[in-house]
Amino acid sequence: MKNISSHLDRAIKLLTKLPGIGPKSAARIAFNIFTMKIEDVRELSNAIISLKENIKICSLCGGISDSDICWICVDPSRDARLICAVGDIKDIFAIESTGEFNGVYHVIGGLLSPLDGIGPGELAIKPLLDKCRSGVEEVILALNPTVEGDATSLYLARELSQIGVEVTRIARGIPIGSNLEFADIATIAKSLNGRQKC
Ligand SMILES: [Zn+2]
Repeated sequence: MKNISSHLDRAIKLLTKLPGIGPKSAARIAFNIFTMKIEDVRELSNAIISLKENIKICSLCGGISDSDICWICVDPSRDARLICAVGDIKDIFAIESTGEFNGVYHVIGGLLSPLDGIGPGELAIKPLLDKCRSGVEEVILALNPTVEGDATSLYLARELSQIGVEVTRIARGIPIGSNLEFADIATIAKSLNGRQKC
């Protein structure tokens, strides 16, 4: 494989930087791109650049958006009194894919991990608490079932109940130690509907 083409080597090297893409997959993708029509390759590369340059972070929920406020936050049919708190932007996609949630989101931007120096101040917890002081009825905690996720849920449940908001947690359908983004749609829907009071 070595020295066939420096261009191919470079593309493979860059593709392996993507999560879940090993050298073999990278080589397959690179060969596929090589056989594509040049206009399709240009479109693909422009889409990748545009993804980075044009996507914004929603100023209300912390999700991704094409404008300052995302389509979920501006949608009048979504219930703004119901907030689903997630650790990562990707988790919004996992929950949206179920079609079972009609509230809005709040991205915490990580999980509490004192050993890594991530305390409440490093996460978007204060904006969530501030939001909950005006008209929010329920916060669903949909954090990954890991040690950090559990610690973060406990912390949030305590802080939120002090404000007087009902706090629920998605049911234990997601395998312990795994991530929401890797769970299947039916499992997420089940754990969302089977949520329990904290
Ligand atoms: Zn939003």
